[in-house]
Amino acid sequence: MAVSSLFVLAVLFASCTSYAIEPFNSFVFVNRAGWGARASGAVSRMQQATHVVIHHTFIPGVCTTQAACAAAMRSIQNSHMNANGWSDIGYNFAVGGEGRVYEGRGWRVVGAHAVGYNSRSVGIVLIGDWRNTTPPAAALRAAQALIQEGVRLGHISPNYTLMGHRQASATECPGNALFREISRWPRFRN
Ligand SMILES: [Zn+2]
Repeated sequence: MAVSSLFVLAVLFASCTSYAIEPFNSFVFVNRAGWGARASGAVSRMQQATHVVIHHTFIPGVCTTQAACAAAMRSIQNSHMNANGWSDIGYNFAVGGEGRVYEGRGWRVVGAHAVGYNSRSVGIVLIGDWRNTTPPAAALRAAQALIQEGVRLGHISPNYTLMGHRQASATECPGNALFREISRWPRFRN
């Protein structure tokens, strides 16, 4: 009895363990430790997001290796914390030109990326300047897969609205080329 109970527990634990990593199997996910994030200051939790807001960084430009994208993440975080005085990198997630997803504030955390939408949206930045060129296909695929995973995990409402930063405030972000691209994605609303 004791042995079979232990066996059942072991099987349950094994399936929970594999489930825990499964949500990210459609893209490569780099957590905060993976890019050398600094510890955040105080952040606020939020409910399921009703909006997804897409950004570009403009600076730094596109990165195409994990090492370069990790360095870009550290520079963005340093700028947001040191120059802007924010408690952490502003975005919930970032996507590199090589198609990896980098954890920013993560799910269910209020970001600092789109005034008026921070407490109800997931902010995703595609690292690079996307005014005149569209991000690489791998980055576009990863961003869309990330949104789908957010819906599947319940962190994003199935009825979410997709938008560009420029629809929240006066900015060219996410750049004309990327804005044209996301305007063809599911659930985009003008
Ligand atoms: Zn933006």
